[in-house]
Amino acid sequence: MTPEQTQVFEKKIHAFVGRENGPPTRGQDPVNEPMIRQWTEIVGDEVQVYTDRKFAENSTKGGIIAPPSMLQIWSMAGYSMAGDPVQDVQRELHNLFDVNGFTGVLGTNTSTEFYRDLRPGDEITYHTIIDNISEQKATARGIGYFIETVTKFTDQADEEVGRQVFRVLKFVPNDSNSVDTESDDDTPDVPTRIASPRGHDNGWWWSAVDEGKLLIQRCKSCQTLRHPPRPMCGGCQSIEWDSVESTMEGEVFSYTTLHYPKVPGYDYPVCCAVISLTEGTRIISNVVGIDYQDVKIGMKVKGKIEQVDDKTMLPQFYPVHEGEIG
Ligand SMILES: [Zn+2]
Repeated sequence: MTPEQTQVFEKKIHAFVGRENGPPTRGQDPVNEPMIRQWTEIVGDEVQVYTDRKFAENSTKGGIIAPPSMLQIWSMAGYSMAGDPVQDVQRELHNLFDVNGFTGVLGTNTSTEFYRDLRPGDEITYHTIIDNISEQKATARGIGYFIETVTKFTDQADEEVGRQVFRVLKFVPNDSNSVDTESDDDTPDVPTRIASPRGHDNGWWWSAVDEGKLLIQRCKSCQTLRHPPRPMCGGCQSIEWDSVESTMEGEVFSYTTLHYPKVPGYDYPVCCAVISLTEGTRIISNVVGIDYQDVKIGMKVKGKIEQVDDKTMLPQFYPVHEGEIG
């Protein structure tokens, strides 16, 4: 874009600031216990005041309340959001960015305020305003603009119950990932697999894999094995743990074969299996060295830690034929 074009473009986008995304809209369902129960089941939230009526009535809340983090749920349109999105003002704004080359979109952050507990029967209305569009910014993702929307949530008495600020970056994807055309070497890089996320709680496990070992985390207090690595024992809640080295012997507990989408770095089809290790835990890995159509549930396998690309060591499981283990 020339500076003049940028000026025209910015005038157009900034004209959206202050516009409402649509009229205030009542959520599809009032706050209700079945949705609360399903949501808490899905996220594994066991706080009793959300689902246990007796407990809730005897608590300081005096009855069931909805988890505050469900606030946005009461405004969601459900599956129709994906299939046939509403042509609202926000979409019009995003389209304006798209046709000007700002095709990338990245949700950057959201902040939510809660003003009171929501209870079954509350009827929630939501109202979204395009609140702010930043000046042009150079980000790691590319040149772009931050768009901030504010959604106000009100109840049946028109009292505000919460507010959510949502910020996205619309950007021109930079071409840092494309092949360097100035390079003399015109062999394209062979893509590697998606790097393993190595955090505080699982970095040690991947480091052991790099050294050719498959470790299984073990609770120091009750000796229960667990995988994937996590900070606390599900049996006794101890956070003390050590590990044992797996023999990598086991059998296929279940499996699926991926054909699409073809993520770079993998040879398709990819057989992904849940392997029951003889130690008593399960691990998700690949079954290799066999036609995927011949993989069977219950099939004996033995793993090896292998280098699967330039950067990645991974456990890979091979079929075992009669007499090979022992
Ligand atoms: Zn334990």
